[in-house]
Amino acid sequence: DMPRIGFIGLGAMGQPMATLVAKAGHPLVIFDVNAKLTREIADATGARAAATPADVAADCDILVTMLPSSAVVDVVLNGEAGALDALGAGSLIVEMSSGVPESTKSMAQAAAARGVSLIDAPVSGGVSRARTGELAIMAGGEAAAIDRAEPVLRIMGNSVVRTGAVGSAHAMKALNNLVSAGGFLIGIEALLIGARFGLDPEVMVDVLNASTGMNNSTQKKFKQFVLSRKFDAGFGLDLMVKDLGIALGVARTTDTTAPFAGLCRDIWAAGQKYLGPGQDHTAIACFSEMVGGA
Ligand code: NAD
Repeated sequence: DMPRIGFIGLGAMGQPMATLVAKAGHPLVIFDVNAKLTREIADATGARAAATPADVAADCDILVTMLPSSAVVDVVLNGEAGALDALGAGSLIVEMSSGVPESTKSMAQAAAARGVSLIDAPVSGGVSRARTGELAIMAGGEAAAIDRAEPVLRIMGNSVVRTGAVGSAHAMKALNNLVSAGGFLIGIEALLIGARFGLDPEVMVDVLNASTGMNNSTQKKFKQFVLSRKFDAGFGLDLMVKDLGIALGVARTTDTTAPFAGLCRDIWAAGQKYLGPGQDHTAIACFSEMVGGA
């Protein structure tokens, strides 16, 4: 029998992920604070639109959260009409947002006190791989709980790597985004320097992609979202800055001196301040251009 799935958070990532869960045949109940969005996705997928997180929780065996931050997950679980009180003992929470490891550990403890398991299962790959069910998933928590979640995770992702105890996948995810954020910025600076030298940016991207400077940004972002001036990759600048703050927090709690990581975070945060809220993360290139004197 397929477990009943609850899905909270239907944004850029949650919408395609929940849609795949519905297509796989799981009974699905969904909620987003944006009621219009919840209704549209319910109509498109046949899922039931719930009125509150508690309403979702009362009607599912496995609760998936795909929300902006740990602070929002905490509100959804423990706030007014929160999910945790309404979840039956023996239920499982699969926290797929990019969260803060220490917050996730606390939430897992609070859940365990009510007989509810919680694992962190953040994802990488962006909106395009969310649509095709090819996300890279990291999973932290007890083996039995991950075993139980894995068939559902496999609907959304094509790899599930176990990273250790609860919270470890959230640490891993933040560190992945640190590497991704650094690769993006240094690549943009190289394009700016090269353009002033007289190199063609399109040619530069081709050469990087055939050479050792290649990374995910040179391959999947520079032509598509920056040189095109579209800036619509689907991953928010505010979320990237949040993730870099999480990575720096992990450095702090582990007493690790990481100067490059700190500089990277500071540049992204300065770009966020310059560009204002609600931008796509690829728009940070406009800040680099301003700084670089383009
Ligand atoms: P998003 O901003 O597009 O979606 C978040 C959704 O949460 C929105 O629909 C919003 O209405 C909803 N929400 C906010 N507060 C709520 C509340 N209190 N109750 C219910 N719903 C609420 O964000 P996203 O891009 O889908 O990202 C979700 C998470 O996944 C984030 O942690 C992000 O860092 C991570 N992530 C995003 C990407 C990406 O490419 N977009 C990739 C990997 C991981």
